Amino acid sequence: MREALTSVPAYKAGQAPSAVAGVTSHKLSSNENPYEPLPSVVEAVAQAAASMNRYPDPTSSELVGAIAHKYDADPDEVIVGTGAVALIYQIAQTFTGPGDEIVYAWRSFEAYPIVTAVAGATATPVPLTDRLTHDLDAMADALTARTRVVLLCTPNNPTGTTISAADFQRFMQRVPDDVLVVLDEAYVEFCRDGSAVNGLTEYRNRHNVLVLRTFSKAYGLAGLRVGYGLGPAPIIAALRRTSLPFGVTAAASAAAVASLAAEDELSARVDAVVEQRIQLVERLRQQGWSVADSEANFVWLTTGEQTGELVNFLDRNAVATRPFAGEGVRITVGSQESNDRLIELLCELTPSS
Ligand code: PMP
Repeated sequence: MREALTSVPAYKAGQAPSAVAGVTSHKLSSNENPYEPLPSVVEAVAQAAASMNRYPDPTSSELVGAIAHKYDADPDEVIVGTGAVALIYQIAQTFTGPGDEIVYAWRSFEAYPIVTAVAGATATPVPLTDRLTHDLDAMADALTARTRVVLLCTPNNPTGTTISAADFQRFMQRVPDDVLVVLDEAYVEFCRDGSAVNGLTEYRNRHNVLVLRTFSKAYGLAGLRVGYGLGPAPIIAALRRTSLPFGVTAAASAAAVASLAAEDELSARVDAVVEQRIQLVERLRQQGWSVADSEANFVWLTTGEQTGELVNFLDRNAVATRPFAGEGVRITVGSQESNDRLIELLCELTPSS
């Protein structure tokens, strides 16, 4: 095994809820969409399944075309992959190698340190501010001549906080032209903060900004694995060199195309999740928990040393959440029922900080 991999932390997927007799379980550990797939999407997948003896279209041209159409972009500015996470791997492998540096905020999406190590590059994690937002001044200070890529996550996983357009634009003034800035917007559809940065506007004006989005969250296709990137054509062309051949299956592609065609129905579901998030944050704060400002489909509670007690208590009651030992817990916003259950259970604990 390569030396660089000895220090790679394993990706920790959200746990399934423990089975407790007579109690409804709730999986709030992986930021999934609580709704079942739309019938039109299931139908599209069934049709695609009928030709599974054939490899899929290697360029996913129908899906790339549908995404380009939706955003009024050129198909050369669009790339798809087996989840946005595959594109993050490609970014590291395409643009970095040993001796190069990748700057990202910490805590943020846990794949970032992994992909950095896999590429053999060096990680420069920059702590979040006290408000659990990206510290863009400190991130700009952390850039060196070896920095090739900056990964910005907005809304940030696991804190839910966003980067404002004004802060992003100020940050970009300090970033050299030959450094690629990635806006990982996996949760952007849940964002209702009008001052937050929007990658779509930003990438069009620059040649070193790439936007990542996914069908896993707002579109409810986590199990099929499909995400996409939008960026300047030369960046996209470079990224295609590290694409896994036939990575996006025909079923995934068909589901994504059908989902884009059903955008109205799906965005009503996103609105319902946002409504639940607003309620949940308010109720948790009323209970005295320290909750970050979330614009995503999850909330972050700073619970410090109480994290283990809280997460174990919820787990004993068949509610799975995502703990970060000694720091806090990330809880996915689910249905009204799962939120009610959460609030009911948390009444039994007293926040220690
Ligand atoms: N970026 C962020 C910030 C995420 O939280 C996730 C999923 N956990 C991804 C990217 C990747 O999503 P997917 O591979 O399912 O598209």
